[in-house]
Amino acid sequence: MAVAVTAGGLALLRRSGKLRWNMPPHVHSWMTHPCVFKSFKSKPLSSLTSDGVTYAPLQTFKEEEIMIKEMVKKFAKEKVVPLVQKMDADAKLDDTVLQGLFEQGLMGIELDPKYGGTGSTFFSTILVTEELAKVDPSVALICELQNTLTNKLFTTYGTEEQKRAYLPRLAKDLVGSFCLSESGSGSDAFSLKTRAEKKGDYYIITGTKMWISFAEQAGVFLVMANANPSAGYRGITCFIVDRNTEGLHVGKKEDKLGIRATSTCPVTFENVKVPETNILGQDGQGYKYAIGMLNTGRIGIAAQMLGLAQGCFDHTIPYIKERRQFGKSVFDFQGMQHQIAQVAIQLEAARLLTYNAARLAETGKMFIKEASMAKYYAAEVATLTTSKCIEWMGGVGFTKDYPIEKYYRDCKIGTIYEGTSNIQLNTIAKCIAQEY
Ligand SMILES: Cc1cc2nc3c(=O)[nH]c(=O)nc-3n(C[C@H](O)[C@H](O)[C@H](O)COP(=O)(O)OP(=O)(O)OC[C@H]3O[C@@H](n4cnc5c(N)ncnc54)[C@H](O)[C@@H]3O)c2cc1C
Repeated sequence: MAVAVTAGGLALLRRSGKLRWNMPPHVHSWMTHPCVFKSFKSKPLSSLTSDGVTYAPLQTFKEEEIMIKEMVKKFAKEKVVPLVQKMDADAKLDDTVLQGLFEQGLMGIELDPKYGGTGSTFFSTILVTEELAKVDPSVALICELQNTLTNKLFTTYGTEEQKRAYLPRLAKDLVGSFCLSESGSGSDAFSLKTRAEKKGDYYIITGTKMWISFAEQAGVFLVMANANPSAGYRGITCFIVDRNTEGLHVGKKEDKLGIRATSTCPVTFENVKVPETNILGQDGQGYKYAIGMLNTGRIGIAAQMLGLAQGCFDHTIPYIKERRQFGKSVFDFQGMQHQIAQVAIQLEAARLLTYNAARLAETGKMFIKEASMAKYYAAEVATLTTSKCIEWMGGVGFTKDYPIEKYYRDCKIGTIYEGTSNIQLNTIAKCIAQEY
């Protein structure tokens, strides 16, 4: 299937026509542990038949999607795996990884090639996030946020001038950060206190945002500020603020439990002056944009949690098949096999929920309830899987000699950001209330 592409590794692979012969072996471990297990889950199925998508199993991928998935798997194995442990220990994303994401066209997956993007689909973004998260959920996050929040906001609501100014750079070397949360407004996001005061043809932004992902790397911030507090949340407006704008300060990054290679910082706006032309979309519509983006973003976080859980499972099974106690492989004890089967069922269910939500979103159907279900459930499954994997590995699972304990730490964030698990349940319940 031919799709116009101008840049990135996907484009190169497409042009070379060698993709199938380039397929990497399964990504196993950053250690020397030999792999004896191949997750059938990681194998792409053949492309769609002429019957179209209606009757196709959810795990049927288009040629385009198979290509990008395999390219990412190779990239993750070669460029990310060797650095995962160090990035976690140093709490720092390696510059070469970020550069690699840009070079491979993974920071502009859905962007139009005319802006330097890869010109692929939302479902590809989901597959990319899943593949990267199998190896490192932190790396998956920067890619996921750039594609589902920053790029999406610019493409959906930006003027042509804003698109021309930012999209080519977002595809090439510019990281964007999404600034909604504050110390006093997390789940209740629209009670935010950051203000934007209109003065002629510019605005003055004042306030402090909390928990801003990749603020350390970001060159542009999409900032939700209230420009008309008397209108309540209907005064919330989205502003484009360049990093070098006077009065913008990125604070000290948080020392976190997991996804340590991501930077999470407070960002302060001290009388930051931005022209009116830096409003993204329409004045007073910011709350709608945030809701819309977070709805699709949640599918991305579901994919991150799914990949994380699968990556952890894939590391663990080979070990327990090899590990012998009482004269046999610990995998062969029925008490182990039943637990493993139960986790495998839940992984499958999380994958189906995630892919279904992604296909619904991609085809323009209602997906809000399904996105919340996918995010809620994938985070639960990641928590269960990583916890079980540590138990199954025994003592070594508790050490940093294996990556299992890192997955266990990394998964916790899935129940918190882009709406906590309780908030997902609230959304699902609201949807159900409307259905009856
Ligand atoms: C690592 C990390 C990265 C982040 N990245 C970003 C980012 O890039 N941009 C950004 O804007 N924000 C970001 N966030 C913020 C994140 O979205 C918020 O932390 C999240 O929305 C929860 O808000 P809170 O921490 O204030 O918790 P609170 O809202 O205080 O919630 C505390 C508890 O109360 C529960 N609760 C709250 N309201 C309800 C309710 N109505 N019903 C039932 N239970 C409820 C919650 O479920 C939770 O268990 C990030 C956070 C972290 C930790």
